[in-house]
Amino acid sequence: MGIIVQKFGGSSVADTEKLFNVCEHVLKAYNEGNGVVVVVSAQGKTTDKLIAEEAEISNKPTKREHDVLVATGEQITIAKLAMCLNKLGHKAVSYMGWQVPIITDGVFGEARIKKIDTAKIMKDLDEGTIVVVAGFQGVSEKGDITTFGRGGSDTTAVALAAALKADKCEIFTDVDGVFSADPRIVEDAIKIETMTYDEMLELSSSGAKVLHNRCVEIAKNFEMPIVVKSSFEKESTGTLVDRYDKMEGLHIGGIAVMNDVSKVTLLGMADRIGETYKIFKILSENDINIDIIAQSRGEHAPKDVSFSIGTEDLEKTIDLLDNNTEGLEYTEIKYFTNLSKISLVGVGIANTPGVAASMFEALSECNINMRLISTSEIKISVLIDENKAERAMKAIHEKLTLGKHLV
Ligand code: ADP
Ligand code: ASP
Ligand code: MG
Repeated sequence: MGIIVQKFGGSSVADTEKLFNVCEHVLKAYNEGNGVVVVVSAQGKTTDKLIAEEAEISNKPTKREHDVLVATGEQITIAKLAMCLNKLGHKAVSYMGWQVPIITDGVFGEARIKKIDTAKIMKDLDEGTIVVVAGFQGVSEKGDITTFGRGGSDTTAVALAAALKADKCEIFTDVDGVFSADPRIVEDAIKIETMTYDEMLELSSSGAKVLHNRCVEIAKNFEMPIVVKSSFEKESTGTLVDRYDKMEGLHIGGIAVMNDVSKVTLLGMADRIGETYKIFKILSENDINIDIIAQSRGEHAPKDVSFSIGTEDLEKTIDLLDNNTEGLEYTEIKYFTNLSKISLVGVGIANTPGVAASMFEALSECNINMRLISTSEIKISVLIDENKAERAMKAIHEKLTLGKHLV
């Protein structure tokens, strides 16, 4: 018997009719002779609603109680889906993360999976029972409910697939696969048939929320193929994400946007060895994630250091730099908020002349100023004003003719 893990996101399970639609996908795989484990998210916007209700009580709830609350959304879906499958005459059982159990490192709100005990699920599958598991959560060794961060049900699915040595993990969502850009923003975006783990990892960590980036990391580590497809289109072939070796040359995977970014600049810093390190020491000790970093200086002149962070960390960052426990020498701190990061991702970017030039040409034709730039082997990212992000994505997409063919 093969094993398939299928995951259905919030919009795919939003109401009872959609739950019965999910049953069709599940039963198709089951009737083909597979053991099927189904991972589901909370219905529709349930998680957002829970977070809004939490805010009515407190804007600083304890992280523990936050996790206890937001983990409940998935409990409703697992029970209802198992009932739908029962109603259609099939054996199904639902489990919360702690019942599997999916053991985590205990970090509330962004827990990582340490191990999964598969014995109970394997027994159910051997008995022909369909197993329905709540996404986005697990339990710490101390017994606390811990969640994986927004969008984390994808990570539950791929981790379960890896632990169960499944044949593949199918992620069903509301679009037909991974596109060259978010199809809700760029109308000409085209579906990508196959992607490597590395490309997908860059795309999802650059803001393409179609897959939770941690699920791609797990898939890569365990070489677990992921198929992303639509739960609403019967004939959806979707996108295959796997190790798929590409020949040499350029292959652009897509464009992603990440909003709510801020840029901080320290002007007139002392040009001494170790000064820049002090900034990052202060921030890393306080769990602030820094993304793009740029440093400029004249010969023997003071230097300016700029970096980007998530806007949710801006206030804390400025406070920490103002407190200046490391004795940093600088003349002024400036910050810019309401920025977006646009990333172009693809194998071969670094070795293909002209890609960055085309991207920057598209931005300059739209009169868009780049506030920070970073490049890697397979990615070029720029920071621009958030209100210009959609225009920028469309212009870059068009300049690189991604809608017609993949470069
Ligand atoms: P789910 O609730 O099924 O987990 P998500 O909303 O998390 O679904 O992810 C699907 C959404 O991701 C799509 O509706 C789409 O707007 C967005 N998205 C962003 N970038 C891409 C991309 N490159 N390809 C496909 N979808 C994308
Ligand atoms: N329900 C959670 C969220 O909305 C997890 C998920 O959907 O993947 O973020
Ligand atoms: Mg999602």
